[in-house]
Amino acid sequence: MAANPERTHPEIWIEGLAAERKRLRSVAKPFDFSSMPYKELAALIRRMRKIMREANGVGLAANQIGLPHRLFVAEVPVNDGTKFYSVINPAIEKMSTEKATIEEGCLSVPGIWGDAPRAERVTLVGQDLRGKSLKIKAWGLLARVFQHETDHLDGKLFIDKAKNLHRAEKDNSEPVQDAKNNQ
Ligand SMILES: [Zn+2]
Repeated sequence: MAANPERTHPEIWIEGLAAERKRLRSVAKPFDFSSMPYKELAALIRRMRKIMREANGVGLAANQIGLPHRLFVAEVPVNDGTKFYSVINPAIEKMSTEKATIEEGCLSVPGIWGDAPRAERVTLVGQDLRGKSLKIKAWGLLARVFQHETDHLDGKLFIDKAKNLHRAEKDNSEPVQDAKNNQ
């Protein structure tokens, strides 16, 4: 495969570099709330949200910026705006047998797109910034993002399961939906 194109964001690690691939392929250990003060965790989440937005992504897992923490952020369009999520120690508790195959991309695999089969609906469990348990039922794009980001924390990338992988340069003429599926 040809050399990877430019990074999607200076702080986002990419699969095309061996040293960074190692982190992207590692399984994140459960996050220990006693290891990081709340303020520091909240600052980390704000930083991840900023990076995700700057990269036009809809999700970002901690290992995508080289950190070992088991957490991700996500933000998807809703009626007239977006809804932001931060989930610590996420796990997919339930997934529908019904699948949807949609073109997907990844901020850590720049320029590559592919058709990834995912469960249409999932129940995500995890914790909020204070360590309180949360459970979110999701469908459509949000369900897809939750699966993509949870996979990241298990060292899995969408290219492992996507079909018809192809290279496409990111440019403004792309349908918005494609850019919005970049995670
Ligand atoms: Zn990704």
